[in-house]
Amino acid sequence: MAKVLIIGAGGVGSVVAHKCAMNSDVFTDIMLASRTKAKCDKIAADIQAMHGVSIRTAQVDADVVAEMVMLIKQFGPELVINVALPYQDLPIMDACLETGVHYLDTANYEPKDVAKFEYSWQWAYKERFEKAGIMALLGCGFDPGATQVFTAYAAKHHFDEMHYLDIIDCNAGNHGKAFATNFNPEINIREITQPGRYWENGEWVEIPPMSIHKPIDYPEIGPKESYVLYHEELESLVKNFPTLKRARFWMTFGQEYLTHLRVLENVGMTRIDPVKFNGMDIVPLEFLKAVLPAPDTLGENYTGQTSIGCQIKGIKDGQDQTYYIWNNCDHAETYKEVRGQAVSYTTGVPAMIGAMLMLQGIWMKPGVWNCEEMDPDPFIEQMNRQGLPVQEQVNIPLPHEY
Ligand code: NDP
Repeated sequence: MAKVLIIGAGGVGSVVAHKCAMNSDVFTDIMLASRTKAKCDKIAADIQAMHGVSIRTAQVDADVVAEMVMLIKQFGPELVINVALPYQDLPIMDACLETGVHYLDTANYEPKDVAKFEYSWQWAYKERFEKAGIMALLGCGFDPGATQVFTAYAAKHHFDEMHYLDIIDCNAGNHGKAFATNFNPEINIREITQPGRYWENGEWVEIPPMSIHKPIDYPEIGPKESYVLYHEELESLVKNFPTLKRARFWMTFGQEYLTHLRVLENVGMTRIDPVKFNGMDIVPLEFLKAVLPAPDTLGENYTGQTSIGCQIKGIKDGQDQTYYIWNNCDHAETYKEVRGQAVSYTTGVPAMIGAMLMLQGIWMKPGVWNCEEMDPDPFIEQMNRQGLPVQEQVNIPLPHEY
């Protein structure tokens, strides 16, 4: 039915390529392109061996719009799935505009020299995408992505008005490494070393990094210390659901992880400004990334589960209502299915689902959109079919104070 071009052959790109190949009735022709072609070839060989599907591969530097335009013209996809890094969002969107091709990503644009998480740069493309008659779907991973679909689903089916939202994200997995990040280390460390931020009574409240924390009880996992972080989907959620009085994002971290991070920060290894080394400019965080395990190498022997969901309080039929919607995902199971760990899997599967719904015309609207602006029902249905079963509970005592 459709040709799709996937950019980025890391942990997430691999899962997206596998899952597109496993849905070859929709994705009839798949190309995986990245900076290092050998990584695409390795993934293509695994896909051939595991699912009997042949995909094409290519080399591209997605920072260079002209290279992206050339590749798109050569292959002729209807949609580009961008699972490279956030730095490539704008050049790939420019290439899509130039060639009239739809666009999807899983993380908002960030400039390299400042860790700034906001949608303003990408929302500024809205009119140009509308005029070109093409669609960009932003942040269609798990968080951002499925968490916004969960919130939209809650709004549609369970609330007249939502007041309090807590997105809770737990990785209770064990990969056996002393220190590793589950997705691109540079992006991950930039995100969590920033001041935290949450929405309360119409404004952002900024807090020192990791300064608000408490144990949260996760289904099938138990209590895990969870920390308030700023996460990009909060920006679009409070805009699209203005009745929210408070919106927060919580993520679990182990003590061992936090100790490593503190030491790395204290010695300057998480800096993103260049330092002189042997006469060369080196960005310490980029160097750190080069010596840490890559996220796509963590899958083998990774055990335990992730649990990500939304806990919401509001009003239904004049009464207080609470609601919890979540997915648990098992690292060992996802490795068996697509050779990827659960953090890559929970990102890559929603990206494939978003792409599928766009190509089927179910989620197709020219312009630039966030996931909560689409009908959540077909997405939830696909999550249940594609390996991310959704669970929900209505009117339970929520573990947080309200
Ligand atoms: P990885 O570091 O494993 O992979 C990134 C890939 O992008 C690599 O293959 C890399 O190539 C490629 N790449 C980098 N720069 C370029 C470029 N200029 N041109 C072409 N390819 C390039 O990261 P992950 O797979 O873990 O993460 C991918 C994306 O998913 C990130 O944007 C991340 O923020 C996002 N993410 C979103 C989540 C969500 O829930 N929404 C959760 C987790 C991740 P090379 O191998 O040569 O370096």
